[in-house]
Amino acid sequence: DTFTNFRLSRPILKAISDMGYSKPTPIQVRSIPLSLQAHDLCVSAQTGSGKTLAFLIPIIERLLFRPKTIPATRVLILVPTRELGVQCHSVALKLSKYTDISWSLCVGGLSSKVQEAELKKRPDGVIATPGRLIDHLHNSQGFTLDGIEILVIDEADRILEDGFSDELDEIIKATPKSRQTMLFSATMTDKIDDLTKLSLARPVRLFV
Ligand code: AMP
Repeated sequence: DTFTNFRLSRPILKAISDMGYSKPTPIQVRSIPLSLQAHDLCVSAQTGSGKTLAFLIPIIERLLFRPKTIPATRVLILVPTRELGVQCHSVALKLSKYTDISWSLCVGGLSSKVQEAELKKRPDGVIATPGRLIDHLHNSQGFTLDGIEILVIDEADRILEDGFSDELDEIIKATPKSRQTMLFSATMTDKIDDLTKLSLARPVRLFV
């Protein structure tokens, strides 16, 4: 298997090759084609499996394939911690290097004012922790999730363990029903099952 099998656009293939990756990991092999076809996915995967690229590659491909006509934030990636947000943001920037896709990081520990100004510019994608995102939803003038086409809930079990279940529900309800949703979790508990029923439509389940 190689990344060229996925028929990705040149700017993404070039970025992947710059990053030094030549062979997709098993989770990437299974999830990327499904995600490119806009399926909802419920994936049980550990950190280290290559799940970040598994969701970022099809996201960027789909953004490129359908350029936007008006400024809007089209992708929301929810992560449990600031550290995971920083990592995911860094990978997203590297993968988008040859495109004009913009990303914004919305986590605690960074200035709310700076983030508010960034969100106003409607970056294509926002990577956020639920707590900080809710702050902006409640307090930042004009910031909405109305334009979200793709939602990722990364390490969903950790988000729930940290007690952000209500925030998660509120965020999901603030995004359009027509969105594509991808949920990743190391463990599949009853709570994750409930979240899956709430947030995914006819999901394909992958165990990697
Ligand atoms: P993740 O599961 O997203 O936290 O990724 C774990 C690690 O796997 C990261 O350090 C990536 O750089 C690496 N990685 C992701 N995809 C690949 C790949 N296709 N080939 C080699 N390493 C990869």
